[in-house]
Amino acid sequence: MNENFDREHLWHPYTSTSNPLPVYKVERAEGAEIILEGGRLLVDGMSSWWCAIHGYNHPVLNAAAQDQLQKMSHVMFGGLTHDPAIELGRLLLKIAPPSMSKIFYADSGSVAVEVAMKMAVQYQYSTGHHEKTNFVTIRCGYHGDTWNAMSVCDPVTGMHGLFGSALPVRFFVPSPSSRFDGEWNPDDIRPLQDTIEAHHEELAALILEPVVQGAGGMRFYHPEYIRQAAKLCREHGILLIFDEIATGFGRTGKLFAWEHAGVEPDIMCIGKALTGGYMTFSAVLASEPVADGISDNPPHAFMHGPTFMGNPLACSVAKASTELLLGQDWQSRVRAIENQLRCELAPVSAFRAVNDVRVLGAIGVIEVKEPVDMAFMQRRFVDEGVWVRPFGRLVYVMPPYVITQAQLSRLTSALVKIVSEL
Ligand SMILES: *Cc1c(COP(=O)(O)O)cnc(C)c1O
Repeated sequence: MNENFDREHLWHPYTSTSNPLPVYKVERAEGAEIILEGGRLLVDGMSSWWCAIHGYNHPVLNAAAQDQLQKMSHVMFGGLTHDPAIELGRLLLKIAPPSMSKIFYADSGSVAVEVAMKMAVQYQYSTGHHEKTNFVTIRCGYHGDTWNAMSVCDPVTGMHGLFGSALPVRFFVPSPSSRFDGEWNPDDIRPLQDTIEAHHEELAALILEPVVQGAGGMRFYHPEYIRQAAKLCREHGILLIFDEIATGFGRTGKLFAWEHAGVEPDIMCIGKALTGGYMTFSAVLASEPVADGISDNPPHAFMHGPTFMGNPLACSVAKASTELLLGQDWQSRVRAIENQLRCELAPVSAFRAVNDVRVLGAIGVIEVKEPVDMAFMQRRFVDEGVWVRPFGRLVYVMPPYVITQAQLSRLTSALVKIVSEL
């Protein structure tokens, strides 16, 4: 039996191999629906972890992959180049912060974070700041599962606590308490200010997820924090890295979340929805001064070069996905999802088990008081015909933008119903 093989031999994310959480077998997926073996339809609330913004099995993305397959699926990027990489790059620079001018293609979000952190250290080294090798970040962040990415994840909520003493030690400051839509509390910036003033000589960069913190807590914080943080960075020769891997491509209501603050980074990571959820791919965008700082000084090259760098198949699908997004009125789409989530999730805030309900763009979060029983909740959601995967005290959705009003209502009714039972 295939299910038995899966249970015996396949590792699934963040679960035991000896007593794993149940998995559901998917036969196919179409639009905003996941179809399980046996034919059960689930309305997708997760976009496969922020990725599948256009839904599944999209004809335009399928065609992009098929066309590129006829030419080549991959060639090395060392010494070679190709139209998919060039055309995607052109497109990305049009939508990136104006200060971004160089693009480094990488394999996944975590690798993009590794690349960004290496860039920051190499930039500081190349420009004569050999001691500037460490990083500061805010708590409740999530930046991926590889070594350096782990080191800047929240030490408690970031799921990597047990690696503690094996990881490089970073500077953590409290996550801002001022809510995105609330009043700005000037005290929020103090801990970062104190840390930067005391340790700027050893700090290469500040890394954070602008405005929306994803897997580390699903928090939406005040854009003023980013403006003040950027100013502190500039004053102390610290680079600013934005991790927009989750927030990119319209999810927060802006194309990228930095636009909420109007602050441009020195380095920016994108991934996840970059390929519309078709395959793993990411990019690190850098400003001219960062790239020049690295390139004008020995060894005159950035010391990183993944095997699958600039993969043509991924570049083609990423270009098609980005064009598909830009070619439609995605702002209205995301706003419609936002309004519907706000309206239909509103009753939940009165429930006994609920701490907070928040919505921004096409993201809806219900924070409950006690950690949920994931296996139980997941089964209840599947019984209701929706796909939602809560973790800890967070029950949240970020549906594909193609979700219909009726499908979204199905999702929110299931949320309301199941959270009311807690
Ligand atoms: C998912 C995520 C990552 C890691 O991306 P992977 O593709 O899973 O390696 C990094 N940063 C943020 C903000 C993310 O949401």
